[in-house]
Amino acid sequence: MTASSSPDNSAKPQLVVEFAGVQKHFGDLHVLRDINLSVRQGEVLVICGPSGSGKSTLVRCVNGLEPIGAGRLTVLSRLLNGRFPDLRELRAEVGMVFQHFNLYPHLTVLGNITLAPMKVRGLSRAEAEGKAQALLERVGIPEKAKQHPAQLSGGQRQRVAIARALAMDPKIMLFDEPTSALDPEMIKEVLDVLTDLARDGMTMMVVTHEMGFARRVADRIALLDHGRIVEENDPERFFKTPRDERTKAFLSKIL
Ligand code: ADP
Ligand code: MG
Repeated sequence: MTASSSPDNSAKPQLVVEFAGVQKHFGDLHVLRDINLSVRQGEVLVICGPSGSGKSTLVRCVNGLEPIGAGRLTVLSRLLNGRFPDLRELRAEVGMVFQHFNLYPHLTVLGNITLAPMKVRGLSRAEAEGKAQALLERVGIPEKAKQHPAQLSGGQRQRVAIARALAMDPKIMLFDEPTSALDPEMIKEVLDVLTDLARDGMTMMVVTHEMGFARRVADRIALLDHGRIVEENDPERFFKTPRDERTKAFLSKIL
């Protein structure tokens, strides 16, 4: 599609994720309650909230790791209702980085990053390795290509996991507490990579309790509590004039 064929989209970036009245249960547990939330192309949405409030479940729905119950969830123009249309294609376009890096221990850093681009995207080894090396440069560890995950620090492993997700040229990146398992001195190096990605215009949904990062980088912050979005606001208002008592209570605990 050429730019001129869609003049309306140029004014306002396109919605790439849209939850409309989404509900989800795990058995008797009502884990997502009437979620209405949208993310536009190039936006950074931070999701925070107490443990068990449904943050992971919410982001896992976006790449189809969890099916929704009632409501509508649209991701990159695909409607993800109970049945999954084309998960493989969706997951290639929606990258995800978890708290525990989930790298393949038996593969080198390069092997971890090149696997999916070769298998799913059909890149040649040389192309995939060239791209992987450029991504390692981007996340600041070009010298680690030949190492195995066990030889890396937690912060370095997480940066490999980010490079691995980026190797698929995702349109959206999901991060689920990417720094929660890291020692304090490694948190910054990972947040710096996320900050660069955001500045480069990546659309991101980030579950994190790093409120300094949220304040600097997020376009909007949503607070989940017992499966409900109790506050959604720009960072300025979220921190200075939260509307909901639960936001005040949450902030008073973590700030
Ligand atoms: P958060 O990421 O905010 O800590 P989660 O989305 O992981 O919250 O979990 C929300 C609730 O759903 C928790 O009570 C959790 O125990 C429950 N839960 C998460 N995944 C499952 C599952 N696969 N089966 C049953 N219950 C689950
Ligand atoms: Mg979680």
